[in-house]
Amino acid sequence: MKLTFLGTGTSTGIPTLGCHCPTCFSTDPHDYRTRSSIVLEFDGHVVVVDTTPDFRQQALRERIERLDAVVFTHTHADHVFGLDDVRVFNLRQKHAIPIYADSRSMEDIRRIFTYIFKGDYAAGGIPRLDPHVIDGPFDLWGMRMVPLPVLHGDLPVLGFRFHRTAYITDFSAIPESTMAMLQDLDVLILDALRHNPHPTHSTVEQSLEIVNRLRPRRAFFTHIAHELGHESTNSALPPNVRLAYDGLKIELPEDSG
Ligand SMILES: [Zn+2]
Ligand SMILES: [Zn+2]
Repeated sequence: MKLTFLGTGTSTGIPTLGCHCPTCFSTDPHDYRTRSSIVLEFDGHVVVVDTTPDFRQQALRERIERLDAVVFTHTHADHVFGLDDVRVFNLRQKHAIPIYADSRSMEDIRRIFTYIFKGDYAAGGIPRLDPHVIDGPFDLWGMRMVPLPVLHGDLPVLGFRFHRTAYITDFSAIPESTMAMLQDLDVLILDALRHNPHPTHSTVEQSLEIVNRLRPRRAFFTHIAHELGHESTNSALPPNVRLAYDGLKIELPEDSG
């Protein structure tokens, strides 16, 4: 299975509009970060986690030519506002695309995208979606997706474990019950916004502590703000922990867990 980071930036994207800081003015392509999302490709299937406002550009960049499912972590604008762009895959594939979200997020998606679900949109050209409410682990063509409840400030949101990889973007706290689901990981992907504390996001130091506790073989940080330059931040991290960047691809073992 192949995992590609479609985007690794915080909600504003990097460069941030109007900002003149060294990261936003950097010429290193690793410092150019679209909004955070990943795509999983396995056995001819393509599954995206979150549809960011940058989804169309991310899909063009990675030459995504089909889409079999979308899984949502939560419904902040930077994670859902690209959902309309999946409709081209409806036309190509001639069927509805399954989307997965917890009950709170599915309610939000139905409200935010009223025109998709209301059934009386006259102009045509809307996505056809097949909503599935996540209430426990679910199966995507033989891949078991285990929802990982975490807190994003006060908001309960989801990370996901698949095989021996876990993806947890947008969190500030991981309950012990979820930490117990993160044992024996090959790859752990965590939110690491910046160095200074933030009410709804994990920092580099907080995420390093989690890595030290869980001891995955490798860890990658994502949802990165402009306070963190790629090169300077990476050089200060332990060798098995890296800042992710847009377009980074990793091969994942497909064994049990
Ligand atoms: Zn976010
Ligand atoms: Zn968020």
